[in-house]
Amino acid sequence: MDQGKIDALRGRPVNAFSHLIDGKSVPASDGGTMDVLSPIDGQVLTQIARGTAIDMETAIATARTAFEDRRWAGQPPAARKAVLLKWADLIEANALELAVLGVRDNGTEIGMALKAEPGSAVGTIRFYAEAIDKVYGEIAPTSDDVLGLIHKEPVGVVGAIVPWNFPMMIGAWKLAPALASGNSVVLKPAETASLTLLRMAELALDAGLPPGVLNVVTGEGAVVGEALGLSMNVDVLVFTGSGATGRRLMEYSARSNMKRVYLELGGKSPNIVFADAPDLAEAAKVAASGMFRNAGQVCVAASRLLVEASIHDDFVAEVVKAAEAMRVGDPLRLDTQIGAVNSGAQLEQNLRFVEIAAQEGGQIVTGGARILQETGGYFMAPTVVTGVTPEAKLAQQEVFGPVLGVTPFRTEDEAVRIANSTAYGLAGAAWTANLGRAHRMVRAVRTGVMHINTYGGPDVTVPIGGVGQSGNGADKSLHALDKYVNLKTAWIKL
Ligand code: ADP
Repeated sequence: MDQGKIDALRGRPVNAFSHLIDGKSVPASDGGTMDVLSPIDGQVLTQIARGTAIDMETAIATARTAFEDRRWAGQPPAARKAVLLKWADLIEANALELAVLGVRDNGTEIGMALKAEPGSAVGTIRFYAEAIDKVYGEIAPTSDDVLGLIHKEPVGVVGAIVPWNFPMMIGAWKLAPALASGNSVVLKPAETASLTLLRMAELALDAGLPPGVLNVVTGEGAVVGEALGLSMNVDVLVFTGSGATGRRLMEYSARSNMKRVYLELGGKSPNIVFADAPDLAEAAKVAASGMFRNAGQVCVAASRLLVEASIHDDFVAEVVKAAEAMRVGDPLRLDTQIGAVNSGAQLEQNLRFVEIAAQEGGQIVTGGARILQETGGYFMAPTVVTGVTPEAKLAQQEVFGPVLGVTPFRTEDEAVRIANSTAYGLAGAAWTANLGRAHRMVRAVRTGVMHINTYGGPDVTVPIGGVGQSGNGADKSLHALDKYVNLKTAWIKL
């Protein structure tokens, strides 16, 4: 990738976006719009529709009609596969344009965005497209006088609510298996990262997805997100975002039609470094990158660093060196390693966490402040706080920003106890050359993903999902298809 191509796109005017409903661009029912600010310079980038509950109801009714007339669900799996593969090709062909648009909208550094956004979305869509004509129903092991069949049917209308940190990647984790299974979808992107998902949905139409099968409604979570959650006409809700919103979605479900709700929530993932790690220099580098890429705005970020006491000081010094060497700044530069914080509100919240960490006895050994203020953008120095007790707020609550808390431990048992001492259980890692200890840690740490001697990188072949208050119902892998189908039994007397 060359910088010149990115620079040619960076200043391009961005037309205002409306909803995408029934294959058409539709403004809000009351004409409302909202400004989209770029976190790179704090300036208005464009506008999106500020959706109303009426808009959401229209989109849901459209999706329902598209499902009931079987314009998509009724197509053979191989035909759906062909459309989805075409869609992936179109996203790939427009990858740079999509990545730059996304970075201007949400601030992720472009090097990562190219891989994690269009790159990952293309791979995910291809994975489920290729899978869907290889998924069979089942014949039950019954007695001779009956035939028991288990059909997998699409559930109907899927509501998907996604966050702003990786909209295309996380969007594709939900859209690809939902659409491959034959469902219709209403997608509600985050207020501060709607643009690429709207473009992606337009490309789906170009690829031959029938109008009405994928609808996108933008606007405030508390308005259009709530209307989606409370709808009597949505069968499954899939969500990635904060625990507070996840809790609300479960309430919406209980108060409406008891739709299934799958949640991918926050984390406070422990990165556990033993003195016997095979390569401590590598571990220190990864401790920094696993925390600070995308300015820490990653649900699986390695946000709690647990270090064996005997190596603590030297190891922390290496992590600090690696953090300080990471280039923070203009996310549209290929050599930037840490882009912008997504919004002014998020930046303030990060700084508040640092303040409280200091009040609770933590030492800010690097970072802790807003930087590059003169750009008008929202940038924060990668921050390392040592002396964080397992009970401290920084050890217990998700920051979703570039703030790493470090806690020493003395024994394997103590490491496990600290690792398991939060309400979360999303990801984790252990660094050790001891095979037995590695497997013990995989078993003992309560998470959805446990890395050994690495951090990050699991691909679409494996699930990502949490235990405890990190959620339920993982994205990715063939298992994710289960969320988008109903099992139907046929019991036939012979
Ligand atoms: P974050 O704090 O990371 O922004 P949120 O959970 O607030 O996480 O946002 C994730 C997604 O949830 C966004 O698309 C947002 O608009 C949506 N959302 C926020 N509040 C609600 C709500 N009350 N009902 C439904 N969706 C919501």
